[in-house]
Order: sequence, then structure tokens, then C-alpha cells
Amino acid sequence: MKRRSCVVGLILAIGIAGSLVWAGTAFRLTCKNQKCGFSVTVDFGGEIVFEKMTGYCAKCGKFVYLRWTREGKEDLARQLEGGKSAKRKPTPVGRIWDATTGRTSDLYACPTCTNAFLPILSEKELRFCPKCGQETLTMDIGVHYD
Ligand SMILES: [Zn+2]
Ligand SMILES: [Zn+2]
Repeated sequence: MKRRSCVVGLILAIGIAGSLVWAGTAFRLTCKNQKCGFSVTVDFGGEIVFEKMTGYCAKCGKFVYLRWTREGKEDLARQLEGGKSAKRKPTPVGRIWDATTGRTSDLYACPTCTNAFLPILSEKELRFCPKCGQETLTMDIGVHYD
């Protein structure tokens, strides 16, 4: 987390250019298991106009995102999206109770394959590598860009 502040200046330009579209926090995930080699960038959080949900689709084998218009920002969203009407918050496709955490969670459909995925609420939940299943995931850089 310390390194996070160091990169803020570096990405300032990106922040200005994409502030309304892609603001959030990006993390570089790398698996320490050398036989695995999993390494991706994942981002969390929405911004001024849109809200975003992050999840991992087990069927696609990749991180997936759902994006919708923040309440009260429909007009701004329409301008940014070239007149297209605002996207509503996606409807859950199911609901599960996880005995290991005691948490009840909504499941959403993957935008690519429609397989159900469980939203990841924060990068802090990412401990296990989605590819090899071991607790070998490291988070290299957190880039805050809103
Ligand atoms: Zn999928
Ligand atoms: Zn791995």
C-alpha cells in the first residue's frame, strides 16, 4: 500500500483524461507460484457518473466488470455515451449464503458468458490465486486514478 502514493503523480495525466469514464483503483495481481504464472490487472470502484462491480468469472477464467449509471447522473451519462439511455443497476441472478464467512451475497451474470459470478467487494478479498487456487497472490501496485 505504501507504493500507492508514489505512483499518483505518474498517472495524473491518465486521471484527467479518463476521470469520468475509468476512475477507480487498479491493482496488478501476480501469483508467486512460478509454475502458475497468473498475472493480471484488476480494478475496483466506480466514479462520478458510473458505478462498477468487479468479479471473477470461473467459466471465462478472467476478471469481469459490470457498469451502470449512478443514480441522479442519468443526463450526464447520456451525454457521455452519445445519447444512449442510462444503464440500470444489474439484477442479481441468484443469492447464496457462504458458510465460511456467514455472508449472504447476490450473484450476477457474467457479461461475456452469463455464468453467475460473485462480486468482489474490495481488493482486500483477493488472497487466493484464481488460476492455481493457492494463497500465493501478491498485489504489486495500486493506482488510484479518479
Ligand atoms: Zn464468463
Ligand atoms: Zn497461481
